[in-house]
Amino acid sequence: MGTYITVKIADSDKPLPARKAAAQKAFAEIERIEDLLSSFKEDSVISKINNSGTEEIFLDEEVFNILSRAKYFSEASSGAFDMTVMPLLELWGFHSKKYRVPAAEEIEAALKKVGSDKIVLDSRRRSIRFLAPGMKIDLGGIAKGYASDRAIGVLRNCGIHNALAACAGDIRVMGRKSAKEKWSIGIQDSRKRGMITDQLKLEDSSVSTSGSYERFFEAGGKRYSHIIDPRTGWPVDNDLLSVTIIAQDSVTSDTLATAVFVLGRAKGLELLEKFPSVQARVVSK
Ligand code: AMP
Ligand code: MG
Repeated sequence: MGTYITVKIADSDKPLPARKAAAQKAFAEIERIEDLLSSFKEDSVISKINNSGTEEIFLDEEVFNILSRAKYFSEASSGAFDMTVMPLLELWGFHSKKYRVPAAEEIEAALKKVGSDKIVLDSRRRSIRFLAPGMKIDLGGIAKGYASDRAIGVLRNCGIHNALAACAGDIRVMGRKSAKEKWSIGIQDSRKRGMITDQLKLEDSSVSTSGSYERFFEAGGKRYSHIIDPRTGWPVDNDLLSVTIIAQDSVTSDTLATAVFVLGRAKGLELLEKFPSVQARVVSK
């Protein structure tokens, strides 16, 4: 996933070899998910979907469920989070890392291939079909959250009760760091690299941060963020620097952090009214 993964296990009553074995299983699960959901791997199911044109593709239960959750969060966020942004990511060079600012007509053309409302997910047939040719999906806005969730699931199945799984900015914690202390998550300063602004104290929850400060390119003295507004086709450039979401699970925090970042402060906080158990911390420019 092009990032660092951390797994911590705090069950001090478990012998070290058991903890190590559990951590290895969690890493193996994250690698499995990377292979499963990558849009870079040619033999992955995502590549198969992306080359399907408008043909129906049948899916296994796990992939169908992930795509259904991605579509759910697209609908909930009125398209701010949208896994169909892939044609735009390609156009702006985020996929090939050959960045460029496209012409307005190119963006216009790519936008015709964007929109989860043009995805048919049939739960009885467990299949996906695109309604417009050239559509493609990218799960970069949900895969890390899913991986953190699954890593914690694997650890729980190994009998672990207190652990942390962090895929870059998507961090899920189970239990506590110790009887005395909750897990402590430092939130990076959006302006000063390596500096921590806040310490969150968490148990049994998940935290995700999205922002323009981590991945972007610069052209003509302007910064272009890797998060694209699917409604305009342009990299997000609004009143926000970063968004941190605390939720019960990491898929929720991951997708909502991206969605709120796209929507900006006012509309983003309005979206969160639909999710009463979710907490947010936004950093305005
Ligand atoms: P995150 O780091 O979780 O905010 O996700 C950003 C990644 O999700 C990007 O690197 C893209 O792969 C993908 N992405 C970009 N814009 C969007 C969007 N509006 N909705 C969903 N995924 C996106
Ligand atoms: Mg996210």
